[in-house]
Amino acid sequence: MNYYCKYCGTKAASIASLAASPCFRHPAGANKGKHTLYQGDEKSKYECQYCGTAAPSISSLTASPCFRHPLGPNKGHHEPAL
Ligand SMILES: [Zn+2]
Ligand SMILES: [Zn+2]
Repeated sequence: MNYYCKYCGTKAASIASLAASPCFRHPAGANKGKHTLYQGDEKSKYECQYCGTAAPSISSLTASPCFRHPLGPNKGHHEPAL
């Protein structure tokens, strides 16, 4: 089983190794926090929980800013729904 960061889509073999590394797409700023576990299942496509934009991977979904982000339009990236 693989574990993914919900902010950047980084894949890790364990939650411990995922949580040990800084996240370059953390909402507080690049590398201002650790990767955070995506708690949903692996899917063939991921949809943003704020706007419904779909992408084939968490990394490609979270690469783009979200026009319906709770902090304001394009103030954060898409986040995958569970
Ligand atoms: Zn991350
Ligand atoms: Zn979005």
